[in-house]
Amino acid sequence: MNTLDRYYNYIDGAWKGAEAWLEVIDPASDTPFAEIAEAGIEDADAAMTAARRCVDSGALSSVRPAQRVTWLLAIAEEIKALTEEAAEVLCRENGKSLDVARGEFEESARYFEYYAGMADKIEGTSIPLGDDYVDFTSYEPMGVSVQIVPWNFPPSICARSLAPALAAGNAVVIKSPEISPLAMTFLMTACERAGLPQGAVNLLCGKGSVIGSHLVKHRDANQIVFTGSVPTGQRILRDAAERATPSVMELGGKSAAIVHADADIEQVLESIQAGIFFNAGQVCSAMSRLLVHRSRYDEVIARARALAEGLSIGPGVENPDLTPLVSRSQLEQVEGMCRRAIEAGATCVTGGERVSGTNGYFMQPTLFADVAIDSEIFQEEVFGPVLVIHPFDTEDEAVELANGTEFGLVAGVFDTRLDRALRTARRLRGGQVFINEWFAGGIETPFGGVGLSGFGREKGQEALYSYVQTRNIAVRVKGA
Ligand code: NAD
Repeated sequence: MNTLDRYYNYIDGAWKGAEAWLEVIDPASDTPFAEIAEAGIEDADAAMTAARRCVDSGALSSVRPAQRVTWLLAIAEEIKALTEEAAEVLCRENGKSLDVARGEFEESARYFEYYAGMADKIEGTSIPLGDDYVDFTSYEPMGVSVQIVPWNFPPSICARSLAPALAAGNAVVIKSPEISPLAMTFLMTACERAGLPQGAVNLLCGKGSVIGSHLVKHRDANQIVFTGSVPTGQRILRDAAERATPSVMELGGKSAAIVHADADIEQVLESIQAGIFFNAGQVCSAMSRLLVHRSRYDEVIARARALAEGLSIGPGVENPDLTPLVSRSQLEQVEGMCRRAIEAGATCVTGGERVSGTNGYFMQPTLFADVAIDSEIFQEEVFGPVLVIHPFDTEDEAVELANGTEFGLVAGVFDTRLDRALRTARRLRGGQVFINEWFAGGIETPFGGVGLSGFGREKGQEALYSYVQTRNIAVRVKGA
């Protein structure tokens, strides 16, 4: 008898099962506890057809913008009402702490409130061409926005793209990740309860290589919004090229913070805890490299080691400092990178292995020193609770080290001298630079990468303009 809880896809305003089901495993105990319908090509086509119908009907885009404000605010309220139940599911399927899971739904609601505030302010311009002409621009929705979501923050990354897309009048087809897909379904419940037009939002869970790829190449896709790894992003860009479909790419990172000689070490330590141990380091904008002025290097290593070794580790439901990784394969990948770093001659200051005596996917909080600049652990994303600490002597050297990977998502500077902090920040490669607090931004501040970290911006007012296209209408009025 099947005892697993069942979750469904949301297509054309209805919840749909499937012939095949994907098991969802609790990372804290390595046990399956739920399953979700695995969408196939026909489901993907049905979702795209529904979204296209919604776009063509004008149900979202032709209404007075105040109606979209009302819908978005209603979605925010429904998310708030669902938060407790949804956060428990997210905590269980993802491994993250219950508090972080709650925070993710609070953030999701905030995205809808924030973009509700913009939905009736998407104004065009009028361009003077002399008395014989009237010329104006308007911001039109892209049409059907295909949004592909990773497993590390599924609801909030989903809300981050869905809210501005709806605010601008797009219909959306979302592909949830194969790992940790359940909590996102609560966002669809919120949309349904808020009374969005039929087909305006659709959610499918299924294999990226099957339905993800099918959606990207679909003739009805007017936009691709992808958040995930670099290789998948590159693959999607190649597929999107077939129809020249515009894309937003939010990819990985290997972000560095520079700790100057006059830095406040308490701020640095708080940021180590938040920057690399929050969500078990499974954060695209994690602070995964710490570059420390040589005069403070030994002190930072000792304090960071004490911090790491003092962290509580446990299942998310207990709200510990460090939670399990999301999957067995992620644990193996992180452990493998640590092993290779040690083999390559790095000093493992603490950690470096999985936590023994548990079936859960727990990785020890890990610090590395004496790392070669061209080594894998200095250059590549780990996506786990692993921090590389490296000394520098001059500001130029620190900037060169920080900028010396193919990525450029975020960066940071710690310094009580704001003149130097700002000067350094301006030299760092990345879409966002934090000074004296890692993750100092919010949903209001634009976020996105350069280089292999991708392009386009999410969050903030700027992100709304990723979801519209400019139309110009030029009218000759003379003699009319
Ligand atoms: P992933 O690339 O493996 O998968 C992401 C999504 O893409 C999943 O839904 C997957 O099913 C889908 N997918 C896979 N192949 C596809 C294809 N051929 N066509 C269409 N879709 C396909 O990434 P992940 O392991 O889920 O997430 C971790 C990665 O995401 C990390 O590299 C991390 O840095 C990055 N990330 C970036 C941001 C950001 O905002 N920049 C945020 C979170 C995560």
